[in-house]
Amino acid sequence: LLSFFFFFQVLLGDMGAGKSSLVLRFVKGQFLEFQESTIGAAFFSQTLAVNDATVKFEIWDTAGQERYHSLAPMYYRGAAAAIIVYDISSTDSFTRAKKWVQELQKQGNPNMVMALAGNKADLEDKRKVAAEEARAYAEENGLFFMETSAKTAANVNEIFYEIAKRLPRA
Ligand code: GDP
Ligand code: MG
Repeated sequence: LLSFFFFFQVLLGDMGAGKSSLVLRFVKGQFLEFQESTIGAAFFSQTLAVNDATVKFEIWDTAGQERYHSLAPMYYRGAAAAIIVYDISSTDSFTRAKKWVQELQKQGNPNMVMALAGNKADLEDKRKVAAEEARAYAEENGLFFMETSAKTAANVNEIFYEIAKRLPRA
């Protein structure tokens, strides 16, 4: 039996962590070394078969800068899922990711499926955030965790698929 559903999701995280690059990789299979920074937010959609269902991903890619912070609730309030992105070569971006998780826990939809993405996993030689630290944090906070690379495509489709699989279906 074929079913169709769509859901909104939001990408949050520090500017430069790779949110737009993850979406571009997922939606278009592309990567840009000089990805332009996002102004406000950008919208993307992608339709894929996940198990026996056709799933339309409606994705809000947010800017990440502090000056756009007040806009973020517009994007996450209606979202069924969120990917919180940090850069494994930046401890500041990991700190910022944890702040986003706290904000979603307080003000987001309580049934939201949340994923923590440790992006730029290809930059192993510049790593500052241990995978085990991030994994432990994710487990304590009810998120699932993957390290991704928009550059090499590692775990990019996987993280989006995993979200779709975890969504409660009506
Ligand atoms: P955003 O501000 O979170 O949307 O980040 P961007 O997607 O604009 O990426 C910021 C910079 O990091 C760009 O120069 C990207 O090319 C680069 N970048 C993004 N993802 C990766 C990755 O997985 N590996 C590497 N090495 N660079 C990346
Ligand atoms: Mg961006």
